[in-house]
Amino acid sequence: MSNGLHFRPTRAEIDTHALQHNARLARQHAGDCHLLGVIKANGYGHGAVEVARAINGNVDAYAVAFIDEALRLRDAGFVQPIVLLEGCFSAAELPVCAHYNLQPVVHSQSQLDAILQARLVTPLAVWLKTDTGMHRLGFAPNEVRQARAALEACPQVASVTLMTHFANAEVEDHALNQRQHDAFFDLCAETSPTPAVSAANTAAMLSRAIDLKTEQGHWCRTGIMLYGVDPSAHTQTTELLPAMRVLAPVIALRDVAAGEAVGYGSTWRAQRDSRIATLAIGYADGYPRHAPSGTPIWLNGQQVSLAGTVSMDMITVDVTDLAHVDLGDEAELWGPNLPVCRVAEAVGSISYELLCRVSERVPRHYK
Ligand SMILES: *Cc1c(COP(=O)(O)O)cnc(C)c1O
Repeated sequence: MSNGLHFRPTRAEIDTHALQHNARLARQHAGDCHLLGVIKANGYGHGAVEVARAINGNVDAYAVAFIDEALRLRDAGFVQPIVLLEGCFSAAELPVCAHYNLQPVVHSQSQLDAILQARLVTPLAVWLKTDTGMHRLGFAPNEVRQARAALEACPQVASVTLMTHFANAEVEDHALNQRQHDAFFDLCAETSPTPAVSAANTAAMLSRAIDLKTEQGHWCRTGIMLYGVDPSAHTQTTELLPAMRVLAPVIALRDVAAGEAVGYGSTWRAQRDSRIATLAIGYADGYPRHAPSGTPIWLNGQQVSLAGTVSMDMITVDVTDLAHVDLGDEAELWGPNLPVCRVAEAVGSISYELLCRVSERVPRHYK
């Protein structure tokens, strides 16, 4: 913003103490395992650099999706290893990985070939991904042996960590969890000593899809937990603290007679004489455009509900039952008073999406 001026009251407050608290809890859950702090997508919308700083000391390394996200952390001065969860998109990235100690995932034959053909001054630590049933990325179990042998024989490779990813870890007794678990640990057991391995995301850590007590040296990859969300819960039930609070002020108040409609498309119609507050936040800020009327919003100590279609910069809210409301009052779209998972459920999404889609024009305020 020009002149470094920030006037807009609409904002996302990021609670760095909550991030620290959640990272400490993740650390406790991980027991003797190693912990990767997943801070892709700008730290799930919280600001990757600030999150990295807050959780530093409780995680052993960071993970992001691709190299540009990792380089931002290097530019900010972080020296810990950083895993690239999608690996490299071109061979040109490999010398940069070597130079900056970035550890790419290898999930495809072309990524494998690029490493085998590279000439690097420093060998790379790589993460070899196995597709045990999610069918998104990775080598099939019967292809892994060969890929692993090729990497281990390659002078450009310093170490190989075997990894996989669960498709349903947040559903405690999903049949695929056991199948993926067994397929993966059978592969790991093929050599001794067992290689470095990584399978658990937050949901697997919390649900014990993997018994972390017997998995010393396992690398847990924890993301959503750091931000205060339990991926398997539909309410804020755990001891986790929400790290993001999104706030927007009331910028207009009006009375709307029974029978009148509000907003684009006139999708919400007053069933009684109603009071409508307009808030300065919309889909350009990342508030979901498809949020239906009735989606909860927190205002002046009470829950109120969205009334009408979400606009680009504004939403309208039914405040008829509020004891008091004034221009300038601040509503919480989600945060400590209104768990993001509740909003996600109302709009047919997940907490992850709401958090990481808060757009750049919403200033982050750190405390
Ligand atoms: C994003 C991601 C994670 C983190 O998942 P959470 O559910 O946020 O803990 C772990 N592993 C991989 C491969 C990922 O892409």
